[in-house]
Amino acid sequence: MPLGLKVLGRFGRVKIRKSGELPVLWSPLLPASDGEEAVQIFPCEFFHAKVLGHHQSSSCRLEDFFIMLRQSTTRPVRMLILGLTGQCNFACVYCYAHEHPQERMSFATARQAIDLAAVGGKPFVLQLSGGEPLLAFDVIEEIAAYVKQKKLPAIMQIQTNASLIDRAKAIFLRDRQIGVGISLDGRPNQNDALRKLPDGSGTSRLILAGAATLASVGVETGITCVVADSNVRQLSGIVEIAYYLGNVRKIGFDLLRAQGRGAGVKAAAAADLQVALEQVLVTAAKLECQTGRALIFAHRERVESLCTQCSGGFAHCHAMNGEAAFVNAVGEIYACASLSGFPAFRLGHVDTGIDPELVQAISEMIRGSMAFCPVCDSFSLCGGGCFARWYGAGCASEPYPPECTLKQVFIREHRLRQDKTQVFK
Ligand code: SF4
Ligand code: SF4
Repeated sequence: MPLGLKVLGRFGRVKIRKSGELPVLWSPLLPASDGEEAVQIFPCEFFHAKVLGHHQSSSCRLEDFFIMLRQSTTRPVRMLILGLTGQCNFACVYCYAHEHPQERMSFATARQAIDLAAVGGKPFVLQLSGGEPLLAFDVIEEIAAYVKQKKLPAIMQIQTNASLIDRAKAIFLRDRQIGVGISLDGRPNQNDALRKLPDGSGTSRLILAGAATLASVGVETGITCVVADSNVRQLSGIVEIAYYLGNVRKIGFDLLRAQGRGAGVKAAAAADLQVALEQVLVTAAKLECQTGRALIFAHRERVESLCTQCSGGFAHCHAMNGEAAFVNAVGEIYACASLSGFPAFRLGHVDTGIDPELVQAISEMIRGSMAFCPVCDSFSLCGGGCFARWYGAGCASEPYPPECTLKQVFIREHRLRQDKTQVFK
């Protein structure tokens, strides 16, 4: 008896949603229900899994079939980050991506990773990251074509330093509806102290030129601003730059991570961060008043979303919920981009799929480590801290103070707004 037949005998019949060719549920001899179809699987002579049903038949490589079958029984991936390459044309002082594999991801690897997320059948964020992902632009073109051809429910985003964006790439990103996030750390003086070219010179002019090119073809962007000791006192400058550029919709603040080169960079103190964020909110309110245009702050948006969701759990972290996968250029899968390279957070490989037992173990370990969050008064509106940042900061059983400050400034602002609304009712 061929090996394939023996293995398939364990599965017997599976149920497949009529809407797609991938198996999403399986159980021996389960009857089909509405929207599903009971089918039988046979190995064909070339060791492919042949899936036969009343309304459709399809085939795939046997090993891919088993990976998909196993993936279909785990939590769906909601956030898939592809680290297309560890290479970058910048050399930022806090970068940790240079420790990631320096190869370029092949399209075959990208497709395997995307298929693992798509098997869940649910919408998922597909973020293209690096290093600098635009160094692998040809792979991005193939990924976008694949997502379109397969009609996958992928919300595509790219996180880029923007320096390689020319008009053709900007039009491509616009036409493929790929959301663009730019990394920029403040006014040129502050940004250039942190984000540098390999020769030590600043990067602001390159980033701003890329952002302007995006604006010229009508692409709106988000800005991610890493906050360190060197830029925290001038943080409101990032708001002024966002208004100056005109096409920035959203700003997110990301606290410095003590990883890679970042281990040698001084982090912002919680007290400085509090003062800085309050200035940020004042500056944003003033500019909104003058221009009639409001900026979105990622942390404010999260508080407002948590306020309406009442999820009662860790909302910040897809890794903690077992719903995230970072895939590096050679196909290794980790629970989070910031945890890439740590063996303890490896979930598998695109060739073998995500190991559900590792997902559960890592997710439980992360929850256990952050046990101080669910008992915090701010938890319902904070959604919990970032495990990777806390892990890097070496805080043992305490939260990382600057992160709590960042969350609480926006929570306090939200409560004040609510109080004002109540007064005017
Ligand atoms: S732009 Fe990003 S990947 Fe490149 S050096 Fe800076 S932090 Fe690292
Ligand atoms: S404020 Fe700090 S301790 Fe409280 S839930 Fe948020 S991250 Fe956790």
